Amino acid sequence: MRLEGKVALVSGGARGQGAVEARLFATEGARVVICDVLEDEGRQVEAEINERGGECLFLRLDVTSEANWQDVVAATVERFGKLDILVNNAGIYRTETVEETSEELWDQVMDINGKGVFLGTKAAIPEMRKAGGGSIINISSVAGLVGSEMSAAYGSSKGAVRIFTKATAIQYAGDKIRANSIHPGIIETPMTAHMLADEEQYRYRLGRTPLGRIGKPEDVAFGALYLASDESSFVTGSELVIDGGRTAM
Ligand code: NAP
Repeated sequence: MRLEGKVALVSGGARGQGAVEARLFATEGARVVICDVLEDEGRQVEAEINERGGECLFLRLDVTSEANWQDVVAATVERFGKLDILVNNAGIYRTETVEETSEELWDQVMDINGKGVFLGTKAAIPEMRKAGGGSIINISSVAGLVGSEMSAAYGSSKGAVRIFTKATAIQYAGDKIRANSIHPGIIETPMTAHMLADEEQYRYRLGRTPLGRIGKPEDVAFGALYLASDESSFVTGSELVIDGGRTAM
């Protein structure tokens, strides 16, 4: 198993990509903590993984709270003894243009998508250092690589995640803590369900994806699995683009 003996924490793990990553990591031998603001969904994923013979713990976490982060990292170590892998996956998507974006909306998106990644990383590093190293996987987006005609705050927050990841990689390489970002294109999850239910939007997204299909959460989860495992032990500060060719156009 590719994550045998490892302990992973996945933020935003109650549904969508985070839940699929948590299930895959557990299948590959990791003990997994899933954290989210969605408590009912989180407990369902926790129960499902445990019923299948995995080891999973759900904890409520608002990624914008430093105190919350300290509590979940401490609870992870108390339950499973250490922390090896952090997937900063929690996020929100907003589509407003520059002029449509209120100050409040900008702050909300930056807080969850940007500050949340910073706080999670900051809380995890001391425990990873104690464990002799670790892997931090930050879920950015293709919107963190190229400009978007329909969003301002979202792409800005994901661009910040891209560079924050590289700063983390450089600052903690000496502690054998690796940090990499993943840049998914359009992926079928609850976040995009509304958009993909619209025929016009669906065709538009499909038309901009050379591989000719919408991504699945598993497409991203397999990338996260590689970065979480020791197979990627020489990989840090990198960007893994999982977008069906979208940004190659
Ligand atoms: P999702 O299904 O909406 O899952 C995201 C989870 O994060 C939800 O459970 C959400 O809860 C939770 N969350 C939101 N704010 C939070 C907070 N303050 N603290 C803790 N948890 C919070 O979305 P997804 O598609 O799986 O997205 C996962 C990541 O991939 C996100 O960072 C997203 O930006 C990124 N991404 C997605 C796509 C895509 O096409 N789906 C493409 C590129 C990148 P709520 O329901 O309460 O918000």
